[in-house]
Amino acid sequence: MPVSEEHDVIIIGGGIVGLATARALIAQNRRPLVLEAESEVGVHQTGHNSGVIHAGLYYAPGSLKATLCARGREEMYRYCAERSIPCTRCGKVVVATSEDELPRLEELERRGQANGLEGLRRLTPDQVRDHEPHAAAIAGLFVPQTGVTDFGAVARAFAADVAARGAVRTGCRARTCGNERGRVVVETDDGALAARLVINCGGLHSDRIAVGAGATPDVRIIPFRGEYDTLSEDGARLVRGLIYPVPDPRFPFLGVHLTRLIDGRVKAGPNAVLSLARHGYRRTNVSLRDVLEIAGYSGWWRLARRYWRTGCAEFLRSLSRRASLRSLQRLVPDLRAEHLRPGPTGVRAMAVDRDGRLVDDFRIVRTGAMVHVLNAPSPAATASLAIGEHIAQLAR
Ligand SMILES: Cc1cc2nc3c(=O)[nH]c(=O)nc-3n(C[C@H](O)[C@H](O)[C@H](O)COP(=O)(O)OP(=O)(O)OC[C@H]3O[C@@H](n4cnc5c(N)ncnc54)[C@H](O)[C@@H]3O)c2cc1C
Repeated sequence: MPVSEEHDVIIIGGGIVGLATARALIAQNRRPLVLEAESEVGVHQTGHNSGVIHAGLYYAPGSLKATLCARGREEMYRYCAERSIPCTRCGKVVVATSEDELPRLEELERRGQANGLEGLRRLTPDQVRDHEPHAAAIAGLFVPQTGVTDFGAVARAFAADVAARGAVRTGCRARTCGNERGRVVVETDDGALAARLVINCGGLHSDRIAVGAGATPDVRIIPFRGEYDTLSEDGARLVRGLIYPVPDPRFPFLGVHLTRLIDGRVKAGPNAVLSLARHGYRRTNVSLRDVLEIAGYSGWWRLARRYWRTGCAEFLRSLSRRASLRSLQRLVPDLRAEHLRPGPTGVRAMAVDRDGRLVDDFRIVRTGAMVHVLNAPSPAATASLAIGEHIAQLAR
């Protein structure tokens, strides 16, 4: 296919990470073109999450997640204020509900301190109730830096910024990428486009895009659906802000939590169940190609062997309202089945390595004239502005 356009930088993926990267490149006086397969920006992970601006409590000190989350969080608050995007720094409580969680709560507190979270403080059960009168806890942790916003709205504002000095092309899927005479040629729905540099921010498809470009990534994306319930008005009265459990440190998921969204509704979730399609927003969505890819990946089988019990329990919780209610009642015992309504779902792009480990940190690699974002799970929406700056540095 003959090349119809020449560009300096092409970014594949108009999610929050691709768009933040385009903004950071514009700040370097470059003119990026963002290609987005869907008809709108930010409709996959960016538009299907908890909307929480994470403080940076959980991440290993010194990791990309810890450093980019801390920087990105403050940039996100500033950006939302500048662009009048609703957001609030409401803080959150993490609650321990049994003795065996106390050492892990202490470890979280140490991590938070190592990550520079000022004002982080341990709470007695009475102090937990001052924040959340209906929460059950034998101890708690208050994290003042946490907040909520609407990352879909943030992504749309980023896209408007990019359109002013670069370009965002929606409805344009990148099919393949290949090196040709010192540049990268991207075959798209709109013909072949060439660029000096191509940045792959394809989220749930980033591993495929990398492989299609001739890279040999040491991870594959396994899609994990996160299902939410929405609380009825009566149920929502039991939750003032954000109530989180003490997470299981073996997994990068935070555990089912209660979040008062920026629009005032309260969501409960998300769980984490294998999705049989990369866009598997419903349990019944199955993609043969995606299933065959998962089944053919040794890393998946190693992961499944290690965690099959947890996986089955999570799957049962997904099928049984009673089981998911029980998890929520550990946090707020007064919650009842009639308070829960089926809510939205999201699909997480989780990178799994060949040894079957869920990759914990962000993974962003440059190979020749391409940069691949191979793992950008939570808190990548919070950290997006800082991730964009990090990628723009790699792209120099
Ligand atoms: C259930 C859930 C809860 C979460 N909660 C939070 C939270 O509270 N706080 C937080 O900070 N983070 C949270 N996250 C994580 C956060 O949403 C993601 O880390 C972030 O949105 C990743 O952004 P992205 O741009 O990398 O991916 P995406 O938003 O998925 O964007 C990738 C884009 O690339 C496009 N694309 C793919 N292939 C192609 C192609 N070939 N050509 C053109 N375009 C292509 C897709 O259409 C898509 O729009 C959550 C995620 C989930 C799923």
